Amino acid sequence: MADISLRKPSLTERLARALKPKASGEKLRKKSWSGPEARKPSSVGGSSLGRRGVGSRNQYTADDNLDQVDIQTGERRDDTELLHNLAHTGSFDSLHDPIHDPSQHNSSISGNEVFAKLPDRAWNNLVAHLVLSSTATLAFSCQVLRNRLKKDAWSILNLSVNHDQKIEFLVTLDSSLPDHLLCYQCAIYHRRTKKGEEKLKAANILNPLFNCPWANEPTEIPLKSWLVPGHKLPFSFVQLTLRHERYGSQYGIPVRDLDRRWKNVNSGWSQQIRYYYHNNHLLMRSVSKSFASAGLPPSGLRHLLYSANHDYFPYFSVCSHWRDGELMNLCKCALGHIPMPRETITQQLQKGKMISRGLLHSNPIVTLCSKCRPMRRCPECPSEYLIEIKFEENRTDPNPVTRFKQAISVTRWSDLGDGSTPLSLEWAACNGRAEYDSFAHIGKRAISGTFESQSGVTMPSQRMLSLNPKNVKLGEEGHDWY
Ligand SMILES: [Zn+2]
Ligand SMILES: [Zn+2]
Ligand SMILES: [Zn+2]
Repeated sequence: MADISLRKPSLTERLARALKPKASGEKLRKKSWSGPEARKPSSVGGSSLGRRGVGSRNQYTADDNLDQVDIQTGERRDDTELLHNLAHTGSFDSLHDPIHDPSQHNSSISGNEVFAKLPDRAWNNLVAHLVLSSTATLAFSCQVLRNRLKKDAWSILNLSVNHDQKIEFLVTLDSSLPDHLLCYQCAIYHRRTKKGEEKLKAANILNPLFNCPWANEPTEIPLKSWLVPGHKLPFSFVQLTLRHERYGSQYGIPVRDLDRRWKNVNSGWSQQIRYYYHNNHLLMRSVSKSFASAGLPPSGLRHLLYSANHDYFPYFSVCSHWRDGELMNLCKCALGHIPMPRETITQQLQKGKMISRGLLHSNPIVTLCSKCRPMRRCPECPSEYLIEIKFEENRTDPNPVTRFKQAISVTRWSDLGDGSTPLSLEWAACNGRAEYDSFAHIGKRAISGTFESQSGVTMPSQRMLSLNPKNVKLGEEGHDWY
């Protein structure tokens, strides 16, 4: 039997001996972080943090491993814990905050006291730079300012020469007066006598919305806008609808309450007028239609287009610049494209011996020419026009053979402005009371496109030409309009 002590130890025994803990060794215990002094400096000339921060993963070596082992516990250090302890977890109350430091400014001085302490000279300088309406608004803002400005602003504003400035001041009070409506003739807020019940009526029906001593007096202020013969849009309805949109139902009536549709039995023209609130403005679209015969002579064209009872205004909606430019000529041009109605050989032979092949194959779909087809924009106001010839059903015609007829349709889109005053740019321009360059103001997005997009209709892109390409302004004196 071989002596065990003399036996050469196996590899397993040698490894077990090498890994046996020393007798003096302490038991390894997890030790919590007790401060940087408990740690051995990781290396000379820089911490392990610095090393790891500067070096990349590729430079990570076995030395790094050794540096992160605690020499007393043999535990691997977690530098993440060190970083978290360095982070600020308390409040910043101890930091100096000049903004919120009450000692930095005297909060006991109110704005009113500052205003009250300003010398008269400073106030006079300030007021000298303001227009009357702004001074009046400033005096209205608080009691201190009212005392400083001594109500003078309001007295001066009451002079008749300052009517426009007074209106400008009164407009700023609009949002605080739901029961009243600003009257531009009196420059006074009158109480609404039919609050919430205001209805748009035909031009020949008295329809006062408040009691005004000047209601029936002529005025230079454009208080009504011409729509079609017998119908005007009073500015007070623009005020009511825009106030409703801006401030709420107590202030006016919904925009849809202005929509109208009717047919004039005498003229045969049917009208459809709709309104739309967009970007703080009231937009309008008017579609006027009338059946028209082919080959009308000049007198027939005039009879169809102009209302003899209304100073020979057109039956369709027009802006105040309709006599200048091409509008009426374009309508006559479009009517000239209506083909003669289709006739069979028998129908032609009943009239005579001649047979026309064109009448046998008359196409009911009319294509307009390059002159009357494009959309037109009035150069002097935000109004756009489109003339069309459509094959439509005349439901009042009992004869099924002649029930479908050609009809002329004239559509006008207009921007009626922001409803602030009857002298606001768009409203005044549509009524011929303001200088306006529509191509510069409206830009690329046409009013028609904006209006039609509300119902999801995308207008096909087409040329927008000027209604008055030669810019000739003769008004009623010109001859082209009739
Ligand atoms: Zn009045
Ligand atoms: Zn044409
Ligand atoms: Zn115009």
